[in-house]
Amino acid sequence: MKCQANRKPSPTENRELRTANCEPLTAMRLAIYPGSFDPITYGHLDVIHRACRLFDELIVAVALNDQKHTSCLFTIDERIAILQEACEGVAKVRIAKLNGLLVSFARSCGAKAIVRGLRAVSDFEFEFQMALMNRKMEPDIETIFLMPKEEYTYLSSRIVKEIARLGGNVEAFVPPCAVKALAKKLSEKA
Ligand code: ADP
Repeated sequence: MKCQANRKPSPTENRELRTANCEPLTAMRLAIYPGSFDPITYGHLDVIHRACRLFDELIVAVALNDQKHTSCLFTIDERIAILQEACEGVAKVRIAKLNGLLVSFARSCGAKAIVRGLRAVSDFEFEFQMALMNRKMEPDIETIFLMPKEEYTYLSSRIVKEIARLGGNVEAFVPPCAVKALAKKLSEKA
């Protein structure tokens, strides 16, 4: 049997696909990538680039309060400024403040999906619970998990801050704007 993967669908088939999905196939696909980004790491950036391949627009939503961490090193405006510099030139990305319920924010933006990064099994339990709870509240919004390049799977903002605090070099882990911001913040705190 001939492979039909590259065959153009007939107008009738196109119409059927459209009605099956309840929306035109050409509809804009928007996703939200929420997190604390305190500060952004190359792991976050890897997830951002992967999500940009899947969606037309990605809103990186910086949480004022985070479920995992009670306090951040950087203020929300500082975290946004670092993200903006790190994502400069990534056309599909918008940065926004997230204050309140993630699913309400996602719904108000018209998002189809919530993007989260999965590093290891240790992330899974928390992420799984969050995804199911969000689905319960907003069944039409899917949570999508993306895995970063292997070399970023051990990276977290928390560990980067710890290394920087102890005087270690973090250039391999975070973009230059975050390296600069970490040095400045830690010297202010010293
Ligand atoms: P962290 O958990 O490091 O403090 P965030 O709360 O900002 O980071 O995380 C936002 C999202 O990005 C979460 O889904 C988290 O699992 C994911 N993430 C964080 N670091 C990485 C990484 N190195 N690779 C892939 N995903 C990551």
